[in-house]
Order: sequence, then structure tokens, then C-alpha cells
Amino acid sequence: MAIKLKSKEQIEKMRLAGRVVHQVLDHCGKMLRPGVTTKEIDDEALRVMTHAGAKGLFKGYPGKVPFPSNLCISVNEVVVHGIADDRVVKDGDIVGIDCGVELDGWCGDSARTFLVGNVKPEVRRLCEVTKLVLEVAIENIRPGRKWSQVARLMQSYAESHALGVVRDFVGHGIGSKMHEDPKVPNFDSAELRRNDILLREGLVLAIEPMCNLGVKEVVTLDDGWTVVTADRLPSAHYEHTVAVTDTGADVLTNGQ
Ligand code: MG
Ligand code: MG
Repeated sequence: MAIKLKSKEQIEKMRLAGRVVHQVLDHCGKMLRPGVTTKEIDDEALRVMTHAGAKGLFKGYPGKVPFPSNLCISVNEVVVHGIADDRVVKDGDIVGIDCGVELDGWCGDSARTFLVGNVKPEVRRLCEVTKLVLEVAIENIRPGRKWSQVARLMQSYAESHALGVVRDFVGHGIGSKMHEDPKVPNFDSAELRRNDILLREGLVLAIEPMCNLGVKEVVTLDDGWTVVTADRLPSAHYEHTVAVTDTGADVLTNGQ
């Protein structure tokens, strides 16, 4: 693994990229109501990014086919990598919006799951707990700790609420590239402990728990991108770009 630590100056540049991501997610969240299409939200995101002088990182991302939209918009049973299209948002949907941008050579990456109208109580709870899983991670980051200690807390918090913690997709280092080393799992494992990540000042991670109401297993659809839960029950996703400081964590995508 080639982990690149960031200087304070580089982290400030990443915070500027992170502010654009925060702004995009705020705009998109305000547009979400029954009747809007995911494509309309995606178009608005492009407008906000362009206005800010930033470039979206998702459209054209290499895969079986290049990723087609500016955002990943993942509704209900879609875990991550949903493609924005003519799908109409309905009352009771949960809509995961993931945004990554590059500004002045530095990247920011963040996701939120938005609730539309009357969401069933158990699905509302899924979203609340998954958001708290991300907060548990942020609150427990300290220089000198190992990531496996944080990942164990995230996993046990989610599992104590009977949620399935997705294993097939994980967070990542981030900097001048969106995806850098290391891989940042939301769960503990023997493999992680063999290759553990020592948290230290200047390490910047995109932390992104994905939790399912049912089983943890996921399936990728034939479009090569859309990841759904194996049991088609809802899934929630929250993500922040987070710098490790000399005392704890500094969230770069919270609009501060
Ligand atoms: Mg993301
Ligand atoms: Mg990410």
C-alpha cells in the first residue's frame, strides 16, 4: 500500500472541494419530492458543480461501461452506484445521493440518504442508524489508533440494530485522486488486522458505511453498475471525507 499523507495546505484545498460537494448535496436534497426524476437532480448537480468551477468525478468513471451520470443516485433497494435516469421519486422512497468532485486538483467525496415524504418507521430507523455509524467512526478516530478498532465499533453499532453491513464495497483513501490507498472497510476482519491502517495526522479517508435492512449480501445488475441488496430490502449510505488530525478527526465535507 502506498498511502500518501496530506499537508495542512493540501487538506485546506480538499476542504474547498468538500464544500462544493456539500453544496451539491444540499441543493439536491431540496429538490427531492415526489414526482422529480433522478435525472433532474443529476442535471442540477452538474449546474452547481460547474458554477463552483469544479469537475464531477463520477461521469465516465471506467467500468464495463463508463459510468453514465454525474451523481450516483441509489433509491430504496439500490445500495450504491445507481444511475440517474427517468426514474420518478415517490412518496416513501429513500434516495442515496453520492457526489464526488475535483477542485483545483483536489477531491471531495460525500453521500447522504434523503427521506422523501412518509417513510416507513423501520426504513427511517435504517437511515438514522447508518448515519450514526458514520458518526461513531468520526468520533472514534484518534492518531495512534488502528482503523480495525474504529471499524469494529461501526460494525457492532450497525449489527446491534440488526442491520446488514455490506462487505463488497468499502471506503477509501482520497486526495488528488478520488480513490487512493488504503481500502477503508466498515467492518472488522482478519484481513484488515493483517494489513491494518495506523491512523496518523495527514491521513485523509472517505468513510462510507452502507447498511441494509435485511441481509448484507448485494448483487450488481446487468447495467454493470447498479448494486442492489440480494433480498431487495432497502439500504442506506452515508459518506464523509475525513482528515485525521493530531487530536482526532476533521470532516472536510460538512460545509464548514
Ligand atoms: Mg462517494
Ligand atoms: Mg467514496
